[in-house]
Amino acid sequence: MRPWIVLMAAIPAFAVTADQYRGAANKLIDAAMADNGGLNRLEYLCYRIGNRLSGSQSLERAIAWSADEMKNAGLANVRTIPVKVPHWVRGRESAEMLEPLAKPLFMLGLGNSVATPPEGITADVVAVSTFDELAKLGRSAVQGKIVLYDAPFVNYDQTVEYRMEGASRAAHLGAVAALVRSVTPRSLRDPHTGMMRYAAADRKIPTAAVSVEDAMWIHRLTRDGQRVRVRLKMEAHFEPDADSADVMGEIVGREKPNEVVVIGGHIDSWDVGQGAHDDGSGAIAALEAAALIRKLGLQPRRTIRVVFWTNEENGGRGGVAYRAWANAHGTKHVAAIEMDGGAEKPIGFDLDFGKRGEQPGVRERAVAIGQLLKRINAGKIQSGESEADVEPLLADGVPAFGLRTVMAHYFDYHHSEADTFDKIVPADFRQCVAAYAVMTYALADWP
Ligand SMILES: [Zn+2]
Repeated sequence: MRPWIVLMAAIPAFAVTADQYRGAANKLIDAAMADNGGLNRLEYLCYRIGNRLSGSQSLERAIAWSADEMKNAGLANVRTIPVKVPHWVRGRESAEMLEPLAKPLFMLGLGNSVATPPEGITADVVAVSTFDELAKLGRSAVQGKIVLYDAPFVNYDQTVEYRMEGASRAAHLGAVAALVRSVTPRSLRDPHTGMMRYAAADRKIPTAAVSVEDAMWIHRLTRDGQRVRVRLKMEAHFEPDADSADVMGEIVGREKPNEVVVIGGHIDSWDVGQGAHDDGSGAIAALEAAALIRKLGLQPRRTIRVVFWTNEENGGRGGVAYRAWANAHGTKHVAAIEMDGGAEKPIGFDLDFGKRGEQPGVRERAVAIGQLLKRINAGKIQSGESEADVEPLLADGVPAFGLRTVMAHYFDYHHSEADTFDKIVPADFRQCVAAYAVMTYALADWP
């Protein structure tokens, strides 16, 4: 074989192809690292609109504002996709320890929970660390009690099971209410809310998260053989489904406008804090990535579509509505990218092919584009799970990307009053925008 053929064979074709985007990638990274537009938008969303639970006025304001911002960013075909969403309302709520000490507990009702009677539920507490411990105690020890799950944080997926299923498992043994240690690795006494699910077979009992400190306190008292009495009061309830909408805008592809790389985050949040990391940062980073691509005059072969999904937190109806709309409008998705893990320093992208399995060439392309993000150490491509709003697309076989960060503090703030704009580190957010922009543009333009 002639030496030059050997040399050519040694260079992967994808690397050669990705290299043609090096100039554009460097410009996008430079622009993102100097950009204030994204931070200004996120700051406005956080401070002027605030948190955005499905069914709330503030979510509807955020949706109208988002459509305006997409237009201001120069996106085309800006529109909303209407969808009905669940409307859970927290109402007033409180929990207090009555015995052996009198003290208020730092609590947040869990999303979907039912209310207590107006006078509250007052009962002794049975504290456990695991579902196994609860099962071993059995009905005789649990009947008529408030169950407290004091499960230390292992990882989100594992520990969140107590928040999701704890109430029904406790109700199954006759408990009258359930308290759950907040799902967080670190705590400054702030409770963390989030969705829970009732099993159809068991009675619906009210359920709330308490701060890590309070959970440990109560558990220590019961271990010492102390009788702990707690009064829980909650007004939580559902109102009729509310009007809401996804928001979308595009950079229309110059060659294949029906082929789409969809990027975005969810515009709804829990009803505490500002939804800054979760997921204002993800939605706004996607918008800013598209804004910078446009600003630099880059028009890819395929369409880049920015979508702000609604109702991710307690229903996922926005993701389902988007898929229905896209299918009805003949969209052929080549990739879906969602950022929903906070705006810490990005390291790369998780790649998810779902049940349909790996599609040839996609991983190689992503890895090659990842090389263009080496400058900011954000180009690592690994197998992983994508985010909730793109799951309906994933089920249809669309390769789904999740922007991944170091995730050092995300769960410290997640679903709590502490998820506010001051927790956003500007340089990290800008790198997220850069990673988003480079991956999106190169995927959309790939020959
Ligand atoms: Zn989220």
